[in-house]
Amino acid sequence: MRRVHLAGIVDKNSGTSWQVHPLDLALWLRVIPLAWEVACAHRLPLTEVRPTPTPGPYNRQSQKVTGCCYTREGIIHLVLRHRNPETGEWMPAARPEADVFHTLAHELAHLEEARHSPRFYALLHTLLRDVTSRRRV
Ligand SMILES: [Zn+2]
Repeated sequence: MRRVHLAGIVDKNSGTSWQVHPLDLALWLRVIPLAWEVACAHRLPLTEVRPTPTPGPYNRQSQKVTGCCYTREGIIHLVLRHRNPETGEWMPAARPEADVFHTLAHELAHLEEARHSPRFYALLHTLLRDVTSRRRV
């Protein structure tokens, strides 16, 4: 079980505390309502959006992951800057805002279609347009 805070996330299994970068917090507060708006508008079965260091084991490969989606549970993980618990460094580097919203649209599309099928890309195209227009409001 994980407990989500506004500014971070605590993994109860390992007891590790992840802290979202303060400069990412404002972005995060815009991402959450937008995720719900888009999910409602397209009737996607979203149950939760979580900030996460990486959705899997902490290693070189997982550092390239920008998001992940548990289709059955309706849970989306979005990777933001976080402190490496061993070195105390902030990592990975800050992501451009557009990139975070692109990942959001991608993971939202996975709520409907688990695989990267033509149907997935058609839905992603629609969701990206919606996410982009709502970002500008
Ligand atoms: Zn994907």
